[in-house]
Amino acid sequence: MQAHPHEIAIGFFDGRWNVDDGFCYPDPRNAFSSSEEALQFLHDLTGEQIGQDAAEWEEWFANCPPDLLRLMYDGYPMVIQSLNHPDFPKRVLAATERWQDTTARICSKCTALCPEYREHCWACGFKVGRASAMPE
Ligand SMILES: [Zn+2]
Repeated sequence: MQAHPHEIAIGFFDGRWNVDDGFCYPDPRNAFSSSEEALQFLHDLTGEQIGQDAAEWEEWFANCPPDLLRLMYDGYPMVIQSLNHPDFPKRVLAATERWQDTTARICSKCTALCPEYREHCWACGFKVGRASAMPE
């Protein structure tokens, strides 16, 4: 069974991923490193401030129209790529760790490392453009 990211996140609150039951693939226990991270994902996705209450979240999603759910998933990258997001410095750090041996190019909007083959900054989504030396 394929679970949606929000279903995986909710599963962290009621412990449903604590047993090795091979419930679905990829292993949902690898999706978030903690229930706090799962909760941050749900807050970013929905804009709601519900706590770590699986039943409350399940009810919220059960009442969420499919069109709205699709819009929330479409908008999610813009939320986490916002320079105002509390976890944005972690994204800049992750880009540094990932590409420090690959490039010295820095995004002019957020200062994250951005390899020449990328057209958009991974951290903030800014269109930095591919380096001109790259073949078309
Ligand atoms: Zn950037």
